[in-house]
Amino acid sequence: MPFAFLAAVALAATPADDPAATFAALREVDGRMAAIAYRLTTANAALCRDRQPTPGWALHSIGQYDAPLRAQAKVSFGFERPVAVEAVVPGGPAARAGIAPGDSLVAIDGQPLPDTAPPAQSSSAARDAAQAVIAGEPADRPLAVTLLRDGRTRTVTIPASPGCRSAFEVLLGNKMEASSDGRIVQIGVPFFARYTDEELAVVIGHELAHTILRHRARLDAAGVSRGLLAEVGRNGRLFRTTEDQADILGMYLIRNAGWNPQAAVRFWREHGGEVDGGLFRSRTHPSSKARAAALEAEIARVPADAPTPYLPPILAEADKPLS
Ligand SMILES: [Zn+2]
Repeated sequence: MPFAFLAAVALAATPADDPAATFAALREVDGRMAAIAYRLTTANAALCRDRQPTPGWALHSIGQYDAPLRAQAKVSFGFERPVAVEAVVPGGPAARAGIAPGDSLVAIDGQPLPDTAPPAQSSSAARDAAQAVIAGEPADRPLAVTLLRDGRTRTVTIPASPGCRSAFEVLLGNKMEASSDGRIVQIGVPFFARYTDEELAVVIGHELAHTILRHRARLDAAGVSRGLLAEVGRNGRLFRTTEDQADILGMYLIRNAGWNPQAAVRFWREHGGEVDGGLFRSRTHPSSKARAAALEAEIARVPADAPTPYLPPILAEADKPLS
């Protein structure tokens, strides 16, 4: 029942008839995002220069929710501090350390998180600040987390779990949008209603590939316009180059994470028409048929004895100027 599900999630931004169901739906999509992102970032840590501790969870802050929804958010999610664990990845490091949805965050590696009242306007600032503290901790060491639940404080140690450094966020609303700015990967909630986890991994892997290949910084360094002239001439050509590269590296990312790389080919064959022009501007992106064909050709080039994780030659592009 994808449409009922989507409607429930879309209601999250405004007072809904059944807020508890809305929040349960939100937790489900954020949990799916966290699980796919965890698998992609940890399986591909060797491909990423920038890494961070990756506990396998989704964090959220009470301030993210519109003020009229916050009382229900406390009932549904158990906020005892501004930032709390929304979902944990089954079997992941946080889950193994005994962390559960509803635990509130007090401190990370001894650094206390501020216990301030949520802002009047909804804002993810408190969650982002907590994530920035975690991203700044050593990726290869355990993470000590102080939690609060039912008024009791406890500190647990999450085993070392290095992953590619990136934030991930599900965007509410009905737009088919997916993006990476080099810091955060954002995926519109309609993707979660429409696609399987394997198909989502293709989309999220493509966006994570943009981050690993430093496309935003390299496009800026090349003086490429993101404005009205983005689709024409040299701008359009360089955007297309970054898309081709993200498709190729994205396929390796899902392969390294244990998904079938052919899922990327199938995604563009079966669903390209759904995202062309919406997610992707038509003139700067190759046609979905061409994308599927290019991916198939690349899969044929994967060495038969390629290890996992495999570090494909395209990673070297991250240091080259776009021209
Ligand atoms: Zn892209």
